[in-house]
Amino acid sequence: ALTYLTSPRSQTGIVVSSSASHPRKVAAQKVSVSSRTGPALRSQGNNAPTLQKPAQRSGGGHDDKLVEMINSVIVDRSPSVKWDDIAGLEMAKQALTEMVILPTKRKDLFTGLRKPATGLLLFGPPGTGKTLLAKAVASESEATFFNVSASSLTSKWVCLVSLSPSLHVGEGEKLVRTLFQVAITRQPSVIFIDEIDSIMSTRTENENEASRRLKSEFLVQFDGVASNSSDLVTVIGATNKPQELDDAVLRRLVKRIYIPLPDANARRVLLKHKLKGQAFSLPDRDVERLVAETDGYSGSDLQALCEEAAMMPIRELGADILTVQANQVRRLRYGDFRKAMTVIKPSLQRSKWAELERWNREFGSN
Ligand code: ADP
Repeated sequence: ALTYLTSPRSQTGIVVSSSASHPRKVAAQKVSVSSRTGPALRSQGNNAPTLQKPAQRSGGGHDDKLVEMINSVIVDRSPSVKWDDIAGLEMAKQALTEMVILPTKRKDLFTGLRKPATGLLLFGPPGTGKTLLAKAVASESEATFFNVSASSLTSKWVCLVSLSPSLHVGEGEKLVRTLFQVAITRQPSVIFIDEIDSIMSTRTENENEASRRLKSEFLVQFDGVASNSSDLVTVIGATNKPQELDDAVLRRLVKRIYIPLPDANARRVLLKHKLKGQAFSLPDRDVERLVAETDGYSGSDLQALCEEAAMMPIRELGADILTVQANQVRRLRYGDFRKAMTVIKPSLQRSKWAELERWNREFGSN
């Protein structure tokens, strides 16, 4: 589900999405929220949560329709990604376990100096598992997962305005404020902001008023949850252009975890994982050749490569495709992958890769 929250006037858009598309699941989430009796939550007859504490804290009101929309569109209470679904990235998994998962399980141990960081950044090439990691974190910590991604700034979609007419002035900041308010009521929460650079980029002279206000609101809300020792709200930003992030935002994302391209081990695991359920004839020697030849491929590049290779035996069938038995389609072999490599190439330029490595050395936590 995608909902654009933008107006042509502001040119600032945010796409909010969720994998909780099943209506029954969403309904269940709402019931579970309204049954919680935290100080911040007052339940209305229709189960829509109403917020008290956060509204007071931010000094502003909120828009019921926006709360409702955030609850129904962006929240996924149990994204079904598990650690084991993610190949490699052991250091990132360990850091995230310490920073987010353990503190939600043992809140009593993680106080004072051990209070977990509110903000962290996953940066690295596209398609390397940043979104998967954020989802796995939410799933493993049983946190409410808010999936927010920045849309292109030129987007002209105006869905939100029709949902809530009061929003087209300052809608970005109102969204941010409400998002944090809902996250507080549904904590532990993970707010995942994909492509965070595009809404929180370095201030430039051309920056428009709307995006400046959105950023300021983000900082205010972020500081609110960071300074409250009882709030378990974690903001995870993801970007492949960390160098473009606004300084003030970067300062708050204190842990910056580099998510690199998969190394040989991770590529081997990924290839084997993607081939599950396929008929293939790849002796270890061929697998090793593929592992070596896919240096520079991201996880999503490997996915695309396997999909392309899997089509080769099908294309050979020609007109027989309509009559052939499924078990008569020939097995995948090394040559299919070689051929697929001429079409599916690594999507990251070497120069960009080097730039990310440099940024990691200077600003990264690992
Ligand atoms: P991004 O880093 O751009 O957020 P995603 O997490 O969305 O990348 O990954 C895109 C796709 O690539 C995933 O849906 C998955 O199929 C594949 N992928 C990338 N990295 C991994 C990984 N480490 N383990 C398993 N699959 C991966």
